Amino acid sequence: MESPPSERTNLLGLERPALEAFVAALGSKPFRARQLMNWIYKRGTASFADMSDLAKEFRALLEAQAEVRPPEIAGVHTSSDGTRKWLLRADAAQAFEMVFIPEPDRGTLCISSQVGCALDCSFCATAQQGFNRNLSSAEIVGQVWLAARELEAAEGAVAGASRDERRVTNVVLMGMGEPLANFRNVVPALRILVDDFGFDLSRRRVTLSTSGLVPQIYKLAEETNVALAVSLHAPDDALRSELVPINRKHPIAELLEACWFYLDEQNGRSVTFEYVMLGGVNDSPAQARALARLLKGHPAKVNLIPFNPFPGTRYRRSPPEAIQRFRDELLQRGVLATVRRTRGDDIAAACGQLAGRVIDRTTVRLGSKVIGVAVHP
Ligand code: SAH
Repeated sequence: MESPPSERTNLLGLERPALEAFVAALGSKPFRARQLMNWIYKRGTASFADMSDLAKEFRALLEAQAEVRPPEIAGVHTSSDGTRKWLLRADAAQAFEMVFIPEPDRGTLCISSQVGCALDCSFCATAQQGFNRNLSSAEIVGQVWLAARELEAAEGAVAGASRDERRVTNVVLMGMGEPLANFRNVVPALRILVDDFGFDLSRRRVTLSTSGLVPQIYKLAEETNVALAVSLHAPDDALRSELVPINRKHPIAELLEACWFYLDEQNGRSVTFEYVMLGGVNDSPAQARALARLLKGHPAKVNLIPFNPFPGTRYRRSPPEAIQRFRDELLQRGVLATVRRTRGDDIAAACGQLAGRVIDRTTVRLGSKVIGVAVHP
């Protein structure tokens, strides 16, 4: 049974100024917001009763009017490589996913920003599900809060794992959805991630990945300074429009201009360009050279992602030699390039495999054609 919608304010969605206003409206001093955040984010508690340095009456008011409620877990899968995927409930019928990737020197949490996606990229499993709705700020922040708690609870279970492998040191918005299409809810969530009273993550350890919503990249530059990743996937407009349909609206030249602007504004080090390696489609040495021409001389890094197949896809992964060759072509031309190690593919937790459970209520797909209302049971 789905629990009835709550009347109480979910504090996980309030960035510090909003929480201060909320606290003030309850008749308390704004600095209490910082105490609250300390309990919620540093100590990971959801229980107002436990917040012992807050006055009893204030706690009672909070109890009545507020809550700390992360998304509900609908399922957990652990990969043979230690990657963990949680299926989280969006409502009675729908779910979205988050993935934790442990590495010796870091623990990366990949979170979702929407239930489904409207961008319709041809090689992505989420796109096939269609789009249902935006996640709220509380649902976005709640993923990180929940993962931190889950990992702590499981601590004893992963013998021999380093401390960084067991906690969230990095957050990437690379799960389901297009974060910049949910700008209004994503920005407060980013602020809570980097706030010293929130999760206190360094801005370089929070990465927003976008398929290239150019106007929103400019807007983002005004609002935050987190790291930017861009899903490029092709060195020319004809191919990119086929793979990432939003390119028809915002072609490569415009997109790159927005990226360099973002970096300048943010004093950032570099933009990461994601490039999914699709056998026989975008992985030739000539395409690598074309990509190098686009990026050479700019503060760019290319992250080559071996394509992760999913049921029904028409693409296949580039062979390892093609990926190596592609990388070498870039490196020889002075463009930094790495190959992303595929993790969690045995539990469909690898990039682009997150499908969740989405009831498509799209009428217009962003960047693509009108497809009418499709409802998948
Ligand atoms: N909408 C955002 C973030 C989600 S996708 C974006 O497009 O950037 C996160 C990354 O996974 C993107 O670079 C995306 O292109 C890539 N991806 C999608 N499907 C994939 C697949 N099947 N195999 C490998 N990478 C994929």
